[in-house]
Amino acid sequence: MGSHLSTTVAQGRALMNLIDGKPVDALSGQRIDVACPSDGNVFASVPASGAADVDRAVKAARRAFDAGPWSRTPAFERGRLLTKLGLLVEKHGDELAALESRDTGKPLRQGRADVAATMRYYEFYGGAADKIHGDTIPFLDGYTALTLREPHGVVAGIIPWNYPMQILARVAGAALAMGNTLVVKPAEDASLSTIRIAELALEAGFPEGVFNVITGYGRDAGAALSAHPGVDYVTFTGSTLTGTAIQQAAAVNNRGVTMELGGKSPQIVFADADIEAALPYLVNAIIQNGGQTCSAGSRILIEKPVYGQVASALADRFSKLTAGPHEADLDLGPMINAKQRDRVAGFIAAAEEAGVPLLARGSVAHDAPSGGFYVSPALFGAVDPAAAIAQEEVFGPVLSLFPFEGEEQAIALANGTEFGLVAGVWTNDGGRQHRVAKRVRAGQVFVNAYGAGGGVELPFGGFKKSGHGREKGFEALFDMSATKTVVFRHG
Ligand code: NAP
Ligand code: MG
Repeated sequence: MGSHLSTTVAQGRALMNLIDGKPVDALSGQRIDVACPSDGNVFASVPASGAADVDRAVKAARRAFDAGPWSRTPAFERGRLLTKLGLLVEKHGDELAALESRDTGKPLRQGRADVAATMRYYEFYGGAADKIHGDTIPFLDGYTALTLREPHGVVAGIIPWNYPMQILARVAGAALAMGNTLVVKPAEDASLSTIRIAELALEAGFPEGVFNVITGYGRDAGAALSAHPGVDYVTFTGSTLTGTAIQQAAAVNNRGVTMELGGKSPQIVFADADIEAALPYLVNAIIQNGGQTCSAGSRILIEKPVYGQVASALADRFSKLTAGPHEADLDLGPMINAKQRDRVAGFIAAAEEAGVPLLARGSVAHDAPSGGFYVSPALFGAVDPAAAIAQEEVFGPVLSLFPFEGEEQAIALANGTEFGLVAGVWTNDGGRQHRVAKRVRAGQVFVNAYGAGGGVELPFGGFKKSGHGREKGFEALFDMSATKTVVFRHG
């Protein structure tokens, strides 16, 4: 069956949900066209699932959790299955990179980087599954107390379109390692790799019903999934607004949630920093994936003595950046869809109208298909910290520069948005490295480096409106399980 489905995905015909190990259409028969953002052409379709399909998938996951072999599968065996899945991802790496790249418009080398990170997630959680355990707790005389780490049960994963394969891997890796079953709802703009990975999971030997996929719109399938009483835990990556709606839906059943939301992540460049070393990181952090990255480094705070030098070096690099179709593998691809392109273009136009200085603009390849959703990169500076492009998540290749004077002002600016996901600090002063890292409110702080994505070992998540709960690394295993305390009175 695996090979049948893979042919279907590769040829891009009518794709199916995967419920209880079987490819099934939406009960309504309605479908959503899948377009390639590089040219806007439709090349496949996925089911437009609704509440009845969600119910089917949740019931399958429930059965697999309550009665299926999964609940009796030892931790090492769950780990082995995840490791096998990682090896299958490696084996099908070229196919998966091409599929992800075509579905999202990301340059092929980014598709390959996503495959490498996906493999690492399944490898990491495959190895971790049997290395997490409870405690024994010193208690009263005549008692023994211990804790068990138990799965929540059915985990719902709602996945965005920017890094679908990677984000699925960090959710599925941790959830399955802990013994949960899964119902995944990918974004309607980028569902293909999720279907393919679920199919590879069957091939790896995960029992039917453990890894279910339903495609469809967020307002239909996503909303029904987050409110379903048969779901025990919800994990979501995406916009802050949708995160609030999902938490409200899950609150009706009092379910736990992990929220990995947006960001407005700063990089702080002090005058003593190695600026040449910093430059490629400063550019890449906002250009990678066309800036459609929750942890994109979208603000650069520059100490005044080097502001002019850094701004002109960045302007030079920005003016040479080119957007183009995924297969051309240029600096960046198109935006995911027309709405996102218009949103990003709207931020740029509004900033220009408000008189924010535009320091540089990249270009769009002259032969890029006219139906594609391209935006050329834009560099603004000096930006008013209260401006929309300084405060809101643009989710595109738009970078804002801010001059500052001294450490206090740098920290105030860095913390001066509603978000708190990632930060970068560039300085060779050891004391300052530690001070600033401690005072910046962000889930990850990089010193003389910056990482947007990757680093599967590193706990990741937000402060403030960037969300709560932690993914990646060992920490995710705690979120994906609950502690049960067992007390024996034996005299
Ligand atoms: P979004 O609304 O947050 O979508 C993310 C996921 O949630 C998708 O699977 C989406 O499904 C689903 N969804 C939407 N409404 C839902 C609801 N009421 N209940 C349950 N699930 C729901 O993001 P978007 O609209 O595609 O993008 C808008 C903005 O979000 C971007 O401009 C960007 O700022 C931000 N964003 C952030 C991240 C991140 O990693 N932090 C990722 C993506 C987007 P459908 O897409 O199929 O409707
Ligand atoms: Mg697509």
